[in-house]
Amino acid sequence: MARYVTSGGKWLTAKDLVGDGGQRAAVFSVDESDDIAIKVFLDVNLRLHHRLKEMMAHEAALAWAMDQSVGWRAAWPIDVVRTTSDGKIVGYVMPLMNDCKSLFDVAEPDGATGTHANFNWQTLLNACFHLAETVRGFNDMGVIIGDLSPHNILVSASGIATIIDCDSVGFTSAGSPAKQWPAMHMTDDFSAPERLLHPSQPATVASDRFSLALVISQALMCNVSPFRATAEQVSTRGSLIENLKAGSPPLFGGSNTAERGCLACLPAPVEVLTRQALSESATNEADRPGPEEWVAALCEADISAQACPRDPWHAYCAPDTVCPFCGPGPVSGVAPRPVEQAPAPQPSMPEDRPATTWDAARAAVVLAAVAADIALVAVGAIVASGVWRVLAVVTGVTLLVLLACFVWADDQDPAPSWSGSVLVAWTLGQVLTFGTLAHILLA
Ligand SMILES: [Zn+2]
Repeated sequence: MARYVTSGGKWLTAKDLVGDGGQRAAVFSVDESDDIAIKVFLDVNLRLHHRLKEMMAHEAALAWAMDQSVGWRAAWPIDVVRTTSDGKIVGYVMPLMNDCKSLFDVAEPDGATGTHANFNWQTLLNACFHLAETVRGFNDMGVIIGDLSPHNILVSASGIATIIDCDSVGFTSAGSPAKQWPAMHMTDDFSAPERLLHPSQPATVASDRFSLALVISQALMCNVSPFRATAEQVSTRGSLIENLKAGSPPLFGGSNTAERGCLACLPAPVEVLTRQALSESATNEADRPGPEEWVAALCEADISAQACPRDPWHAYCAPDTVCPFCGPGPVSGVAPRPVEQAPAPQPSMPEDRPATTWDAARAAVVLAAVAADIALVAVGAIVASGVWRVLAVVTGVTLLVLLACFVWADDQDPAPSWSGSVLVAWTLGQVLTFGTLAHILLA
């Protein structure tokens, strides 16, 4: 495998491909350590060389990226690599995020597998909180994330979020004179309207605020984008990108139950910020809520969050008193990706309920009745003659059918209702027929 040398002269051997890294790059684990990875670019140029060196010199950003109390908030470059000791920089060393999944993958119940088997919506809330806190710290020091998307955010099983591919961030170098390094990369589905309309313009604090709002709200709604038209809206609303450019999310534009179901998954303070950032101020950059507001809202939501008694992945926050993923009410059954619907109530069958005295009595009555009917048919056929014989046999068979009807009706609804009437009719028929036979025999 290819070998690379760090600025300190340590050789690293590329081991396994662990990510594409975007921007025509590849990320490899290395033989020499389980804690680091190397990102190697295919298009190496002098600008990348300088950018990486300036990023590594940004001590405040590096300190924030590696927060001792939290872990890696961002996979910030920690060293550069070359193919030869005196060659050009071709990539950098970064932390290897072991046992993490993308925010996109953990935003749905299907992602709660393997290392994340115990991951649930409350852990997701925690991951969003950490993400907002990370963006707040970077924005405060003038670092613009730029390409913020759930595919560029890795989440640990305990809900720690780490931004990866952060070599494209925007920042001002610490050197003199200070140099601007713009954030030009973006993922269209999570970009602010102004960035989609003017893609040659770099990301800003305001565009980070829009993307943060979109990433958090979409994650908490199980990957349902507020800007994607539902099946009911698709004929009247534009594509996802058209809606983003217009700052017009279809999620807030209608009143159908699917929309209410998705929004119901957002804790109340988070929904307020989501509406403000993505609808009311979608095209008004100055009014978008800042990451510190998301931190406060997510913290408030987390304090009141409680697990759903029905499904361990679900959770809900005050003032909700029922789980929005389960319903009831207008959101029932339309929450995004509910985990396994409860089976519909089935008609109560005898084997579904405990045996009662009524069951035993009914079985005895039915057995006796069947025996009586068979006796009726036999006696009628032997003793009677002519029209009486035919009448006895037909009546006996009819009563057997009537008895079967009674058993069937009683199975459908054990509570005495019309099945009781059938039993009364059978009894009357039986008495009348036996009376007639007795009359013939005694005559
Ligand atoms: Zn639930």
